[in-house]
Amino acid sequence: MSELYEQWLDLRSDTVTHPGAAMREAMHAAPLGDDVYGDDPSVNRLQDYAAELFGFEAVLFAPSGTQSNLIGLLVHCGRGDEYLVGQEAHTFRYEAGGAAVLGSIQPQPIANQADGSLALADIAAQIKPDDFHFARSKLLALENTIGGRVLGADYLAQATALAHGRGLATHLDGARICNAAVKQGISLRAAVAGFDSVSVCLSKGLGAPVGSLLCGDKTFIAQAKRWRKMLGGGMRQAGGLAAAGMYALEHNVARLADDHANAAFLAQALAQIPGISVSTPQTNILYVDLPADACAGLNAALQAERIRVSMAPRLRLVTHLDATRADLRRLVDVFAAYFR
Ligand SMILES: *Cc1c(COP(=O)(O)O)cnc(C)c1O
Repeated sequence: MSELYEQWLDLRSDTVTHPGAAMREAMHAAPLGDDVYGDDPSVNRLQDYAAELFGFEAVLFAPSGTQSNLIGLLVHCGRGDEYLVGQEAHTFRYEAGGAAVLGSIQPQPIANQADGSLALADIAAQIKPDDFHFARSKLLALENTIGGRVLGADYLAQATALAHGRGLATHLDGARICNAAVKQGISLRAAVAGFDSVSVCLSKGLGAPVGSLLCGDKTFIAQAKRWRKMLGGGMRQAGGLAAAGMYALEHNVARLADDHANAAFLAQALAQIPGISVSTPQTNILYVDLPADACAGLNAALQAERIRVSMAPRLRLVTHLDATRADLRRLVDVFAAYFR
């Protein structure tokens, strides 16, 4: 770990974590092979372990969550098909329009409710009849957690049953599904129940440097493998990265509760400061509403204390395994001094 990195507190995202000593040790020790030939024992071990953990027949290791989601959409939908997705969803908003650009898949965005869900009536209303005027409705894509909010198991059961009942498949962008499971005290299998495919990020909060897992049945994953190759995601001696992901799943899931507790601590402490308003975090993401004219000055004060955030009037702060309670107290002190 570089000294410079250690000195900074970075709350822009839970992607900023560096692999710790034990994870690096696991990466160093990983047996390797050529994964494009299916020969990398460490990749195979991760995929098998994750299939068991999430309750799917098969899993594919992908370089990023964006690619993993895109592969999922490409398997479920063809040219002229559409997928129903939240306006705020990562796949729709933050993945450069990949489904439309590379898959000729039309997104049908639906407004997210305040709790992050898509209203069942809105989903039902957007499923098109089989009529040549319309794109073919093929897939419902949900995200959990979404903006740090947890979609509960009851809602997910209803939404996926609705989609299946109307002949649609279901995909979960579960970049932060481990946060959702830990928060609810349910198994990862229970957290992804009802979905035909799930994408899970190993590099968000779980501490791996890169990597995502795409889960599905065997037929789905066989098709996914072709798309991954086409998208340039076939990696050779990827076992070192897979070993980091394996370490992350074995050691860094339960501890997400610490990140949730740290976010709650931060929200409570910042809420004492007059002039700003703070959301109550459900998991590891909180939002702070700031006076717009405070942003530049506050950002400078934070940087002077080696604290990095993505400054905005609606400031998102994300806790993670490299942000200690003591670090967070430093941030609270900067805020308190600035608004005094
Ligand atoms: C970060 C994120 C992704 C994409 O992951 P990358 O590995 O950054 O490509 C997908 N979905 C959600 C909800 C995310 O937060």
